[in-house]
Amino acid sequence: MKTIIEPFRIKSVEPIHFNDETYRQSAIEQAHYNTFLLHSNDVMIDLLTDSGTSAMSAAQWAGMMLGDESYAGSPSFYKFESAVKDITGMSIVIPTHQGRAAEKILFSILGAQGKVFISNTLFDTTRANIEFSGATGIDMICEEGKHPSIAAPFKGNLDIKLLENYIADHGSSQIAMVIITVTNNSGGGQPVSMDNIRKVHHICKKHGILMYIDACRFAENCYFIQQREAGYEHKDIKAIANEMFSYADGCTMSAKKDAFANIGGFLAMHDSNLAIQCRNLLVITEGFPTYGGLAGRDLEAIAIGLYEVLDPHYLHYRIRSIEYLTQKLHDAGVPVMLPAGGHAVYLDAKAFLDQIPPNQYPGQALVCALYTKGGIRAVEIGSLMFGKYDENNQLIPAPLELVRLAIPRRVYTQSHIDYVAEVIIEVFQNRESIQGLKIVEEAPLLRHFTAKLQPLP
Ligand SMILES: *Cc1c(COP(=O)(O)O)cnc(C)c1O
Repeated sequence: MKTIIEPFRIKSVEPIHFNDETYRQSAIEQAHYNTFLLHSNDVMIDLLTDSGTSAMSAAQWAGMMLGDESYAGSPSFYKFESAVKDITGMSIVIPTHQGRAAEKILFSILGAQGKVFISNTLFDTTRANIEFSGATGIDMICEEGKHPSIAAPFKGNLDIKLLENYIADHGSSQIAMVIITVTNNSGGGQPVSMDNIRKVHHICKKHGILMYIDACRFAENCYFIQQREAGYEHKDIKAIANEMFSYADGCTMSAKKDAFANIGGFLAMHDSNLAIQCRNLLVITEGFPTYGGLAGRDLEAIAIGLYEVLDPHYLHYRIRSIEYLTQKLHDAGVPVMLPAGGHAVYLDAKAFLDQIPPNQYPGQALVCALYTKGGIRAVEIGSLMFGKYDENNQLIPAPLELVRLAIPRRVYTQSHIDYVAEVIIEVFQNRESIQGLKIVEEAPLLRHFTAKLQPLP
């Protein structure tokens, strides 16, 4: 088989700022060992997130010039609305400035003390917005999804038995909704099968529970369904997306992911009564319902991006590039989450740094090492992000200690990725020298964004 090439040529470039290890050591110290606090000019390869970091296409940039900035009723809105309706089949589309704004609106209305939101895995902002409403979030990831080294086709699936047992034990009246995250970002970017989505839909329908899709990476998930699930190999991505969304009552979306936009999101649904309440909140927090916190040009970029992401050549290259890096690392003995996910490579920091206990944040220690050794910025998805404290102020660790290398869409080439592999392998070979960290300052919610840490002696 021949090399799978990037399905684009490059028309405009940005420089990478080179620096050395001594410089980076002082930069990470000044950033309190938190890569979110680094200046991005001090980063050589930025794999912090795939959110809002995509390279837009020439068509999207051209679309931005067509953006109509009318306060109300802009044609850019109708173009955006029509794209979202076409792909999701939802009858009501509410633009928001990003995904979490859609979550905030929805959960402010449906969440409250005593309410429960069940998911395969809630993303960090999703969980935070649920908890902020007073409600509780419960993750019910399938067993395979809990083990980074077990290869299975759909490790993002929700555990159907757990969901049924929960309903049998607690009833359904307090369940605000079930949210399926596709792909499962916090669980390794692993896909959810159509069969699983359909089963969750049937259970929800039977018990009168709402089912929503956290759709940030819907196209990547649909590609995995096409490649891995029987009966879908001859369906195109759009048809698969249409079916997937047909099982949901609504969805939240960050257009900063699979819509190749630098900002944006939406909330879409069928329930017109709920939509009235959502729009009432929208006008006080985001803006008028035909722009929802976005400029007309952003709506244009999203409308175009939503179709570009359905291109099979793009998705083939996209998923292959994640698999390529995963394979290189795996071949060198580096503990990586298997199989490769949709948007990121996940290092298993627990296995990578088995000398560092969870309360010394092995994932964050690895993140810092990748930066100082190679100028690569990654993010911890482990006990710094999801850890809680018990009544004795002892850390309750997260189930997994992962380091995510999120690959921005259409941004880095194969040689950038080769360099990343070389750095990680070198860090792995010198892993004994890496030390744990302690937190010296933290916020009550989403602490990983701002926490300050110090290396342990
Ligand atoms: C990014 C993301 C969100 C939140 O979207 P923002 O645009 O960052 O606010 C929600 N859920 C998942 C799965 C995400 O990846």
